[in-house]
Amino acid sequence: MNTSRQLTIRTAARLLDSGLVSSSQLSLFCHSMATAGEEIWGLNAYNIIVPWEVISERALESDERRRYENTLSIFDGIPISIKANIAEKTLPLTAGSFILGFGNNDKDSRTPPCGYDADTVRILVREKGGIMLGTTSMDEFGMGSLGTNSRHTDGSPRHVKNPLPFLKHLNLNNDNKKYNEDDIPIRNDRTRSDDERLAEIIVQPLELIFEKHQKAMESLQKEAEEESSSSSSRNDFHYHYSAGGSSCGSAASVAHGSSLLSLGTDTGGSVRLPAAWCGLVGLKPSYGLLSRHGVVSYASSFDTVGILAKSVDCASTALDILAQRDVDYSRDSTFSSYGTMHNYSEIAIAQTIMSSSSSEEEIEPEKPLSGIRVGIPAAFSVKECPNEIRDSWSRAADWLKENGADVIEISTNDISPGLIQRALSAYYILVSAEASSNLSRYDGFRYGVAADAEKEEGGVVTAPDNNRAAPDLTPLERQYSATRRQGFGTEVTRRVLCGASVLSSDKFHTHYEAAAQIRAHLAEEFYSVLDGKVDLILIPTVLSLPHKIAQNNDNDYIVEDSTAMFANDIMTVPASLAGLPAVSIPIPIEGEKTFFGGMQLISSRLGESTLMKSAKILEQIIIN
Ligand code: GLN
Repeated sequence: MNTSRQLTIRTAARLLDSGLVSSSQLSLFCHSMATAGEEIWGLNAYNIIVPWEVISERALESDERRRYENTLSIFDGIPISIKANIAEKTLPLTAGSFILGFGNNDKDSRTPPCGYDADTVRILVREKGGIMLGTTSMDEFGMGSLGTNSRHTDGSPRHVKNPLPFLKHLNLNNDNKKYNEDDIPIRNDRTRSDDERLAEIIVQPLELIFEKHQKAMESLQKEAEEESSSSSSRNDFHYHYSAGGSSCGSAASVAHGSSLLSLGTDTGGSVRLPAAWCGLVGLKPSYGLLSRHGVVSYASSFDTVGILAKSVDCASTALDILAQRDVDYSRDSTFSSYGTMHNYSEIAIAQTIMSSSSSEEEIEPEKPLSGIRVGIPAAFSVKECPNEIRDSWSRAADWLKENGADVIEISTNDISPGLIQRALSAYYILVSAEASSNLSRYDGFRYGVAADAEKEEGGVVTAPDNNRAAPDLTPLERQYSATRRQGFGTEVTRRVLCGASVLSSDKFHTHYEAAAQIRAHLAEEFYSVLDGKVDLILIPTVLSLPHKIAQNNDNDYIVEDSTAMFANDIMTVPASLAGLPAVSIPIPIEGEKTFFGGMQLISSRLGESTLMKSAKILEQIIIN
């Protein structure tokens, strides 16, 4: 039984309601999973795991509410994790950056809690009873696609591993009880015994969870050693697979099973890409639908809070709760007035039930996707798309068709390949410009951890040569420079410099304005296609499987250069440029046993109800 897949929000809520487990037991299980993942396996999914005493208090409160049938929502008592760039008042808000105190574990000067909640955290954790398990690892400020832009204070890499290869070896089943294979219930037929087994797994002693992680670790090592002895590469054991980025920790925590859902952020694909690589559902809602209040800004006109979950239903359930509905209540100035209230999860379920009950009657059943038009844009059929991804793309299109959707090819007149090819450069120009402006506040005076410029001159902080090279700097400028050089990692520095450059007077028209124009044209094309021709667009989420990240003899990791990293975002940035909602669903890839590909559905702005309904149906077809 694959526990991490089966323990969805709805299943967990049912286990809690039926009394098979308490929130205290479920939270202890998740806390033990998180700790075992970090300590035994070095998963690096979390920046901070909330201490058990704190979690336990919240879980007991939830159990108490349940006892009096006073639960706050379906999330009451359910452990979730939050990306480190979304504020939770009791924890530091670091966005994975040294400049905001990430990695500062010094007892005397530990980075303080940020003192306020992001809107999304306030809703999910304070108002709806979700249990905050911890903040998750990320590429610094959300800049990255591989989870590699994160370091320990000593400079060594701190990469999040992709949990899927490890999960093949992790057996959390209760070993003392042998199950008869025959009585394993068929999929989608949730019997009580299924729930009982899950409950047994959840309530097992934490020592057993650690032991099982140890065992899995050993068998993974053995497998890797066997593989490397049969291969020519010397360093083959010292590698792992990327969990994607930048919400790598969020994806790893949900895929591993230590949290049941995670909030991430998606500026250009940071929820969808890690979701695809970790076999999860990743939703980037319409720009402005979920409040950005309390999110550390990267590129404000792109930033969205996204949801990483085990199923479309889990993601819809969270979206229901988090979508902003009240203009007076919102503290996000880019809030989208949502008008009619939608209930994404209920719509999805109602549709599915309708289709299954009608099939029992003998009349021709109405297909679940009847009336939905799905567009396949020829412009996305780029030559870099490998055959196996192309195959899964056309399989997904066929499935949609079989289920009643009208699948239409979108010609290159409607969405032009030229624009899609330039979308990536336009994206990187625009986000760098916005980042350089957003990050200018971190100067050590207004915000950010100040460096000791004098101490730096003594050579304690790296790159003192720069100071010597610029002897004209005033003491104040030297202070700024020392703070920012000490606080920002390489990728962030590169983006800030790029951004400053494209905003400079000689490049503003040729770069920034040109990129803004591409964005406007691309948005126009998407809007017009989604307005008149189709309801949804279907494209792959990413063109490759998770990248292997190998360790060299200097104990450093070999990762691709930034331009290769940028190529991972080709499929995700168009929806971001246009502010459209997009959901990535895991899809099997022919011949691939460990990882999944991702299929992305994109809908019109604020078209989340059609999007999630169709995504749920596609997901069901894939599972069955
Ligand atoms: N990889 C993209 C970037 O580095 C996307 C990041 C994101 O969505 N936060 O900008």
